[in-house]
Amino acid sequence: MALIGRGCAVAGRISSNRLFLPSKCFEGSSVYCKRLITAASTSSTLTEKKRDIKEDGLNLQDFISGELSEKSSWEEYRGSLKRQKGERLRLPPWLKTEIPIGKNYNKLKNTLRDLNLHTLMGDTCTRGCRFCSIKTARKPPPLDAEEPYNTAKAIAAWGLDYVVLTSVDRDDIPDGGAEHFAKTVSYIKERNPKILVECLTPDFRGDLAAVEKIALSGLDVYAHNVETVRDLQRHVRDPRANFDQSLSVLRHVKKVKSGVLTKTSLMLGLGETDAQIHAALKDFRESGVDCLTLGQYMQPTKRNLKVEEYVTPEKFAYWEKVGQEMGFVYTASGPLVRTSYRAGEFFLKNLLEKKKTEGSIEAAE
Ligand code: SF4
Repeated sequence: MALIGRGCAVAGRISSNRLFLPSKCFEGSSVYCKRLITAASTSSTLTEKKRDIKEDGLNLQDFISGELSEKSSWEEYRGSLKRQKGERLRLPPWLKTEIPIGKNYNKLKNTLRDLNLHTLMGDTCTRGCRFCSIKTARKPPPLDAEEPYNTAKAIAAWGLDYVVLTSVDRDDIPDGGAEHFAKTVSYIKERNPKILVECLTPDFRGDLAAVEKIALSGLDVYAHNVETVRDLQRHVRDPRANFDQSLSVLRHVKKVKSGVLTKTSLMLGLGETDAQIHAALKDFRESGVDCLTLGQYMQPTKRNLKVEEYVTPEKFAYWEKVGQEMGFVYTASGPLVRTSYRAGEFFLKNLLEKKKTEGSIEAAE
């Protein structure tokens, strides 16, 4: 099972008081591969990472090219940022970074293993998005009925204050696994109502009853990733996903539970234009989306879509400003920003706690 992670995907991330486990796609630097990084890979050394990437995606030369080695800032970078036909871009310096490992990493990893918790609803997705390297199958193994209980037990025992539950898509299950998600949330809240819970969910094929089940489960933040601009949906995501279906998920959450914060994410660097990004952000605001994250797409393996552009930190800062001006509660935008972004979660945690305090003050008055 698994539980916490980033978006639809599979990445593990652990810090001193928070844990992210896998589920679906991985975004990122392993990264926006929507989720390429597994909990195990997070522990690898830089050398191991380079080797892994060489075998699976980027080439070692991407990291050690002379052009990059002495450059430390994007202003000085003279490498190509936009892919030409037949070319593969080298990794710019601002994306070369260590993955931080919290001191509790081994402890949490061992607990997960002991409880047989690996990824929420399994490690195999029924879809096949072109940016994601997760294992896929038409009929993955059945759900583990004990998973919601075991997950809640583990999370409560760890003393986490903010958890993100995410999963693969399970189109083979009638409700897409919505009940499983909802049970996990309510078991966590039963054990410790103070833990803030974010669910990063699939689109449930547009099944709004499934969305509603989770929206009403007691969670604090409902995240669903639109992933890319409208015009690139077909190119990037599984054909069963689309822009309007994803927007309908986010809109429905607000309709049935307006107090829940909604959140979505876009990967940049897939060939989208500024106008397309602007249009997407406008659609998000019109659908009541509260929080936005923008990060760099990174090709997880050679079989996945190539990076079309490495977006500069300056351009990410521009989008952050645009998001703020458009009225998102928060916009996290940067090359290494992922769906589950620690600074964003701290912000949300403070915001949610403030809202709860104000609510209790109002109730007392
Ligand atoms: S729905 Fe797509 S992005 Fe999500 S886990 Fe499945 S293949 Fe990956």
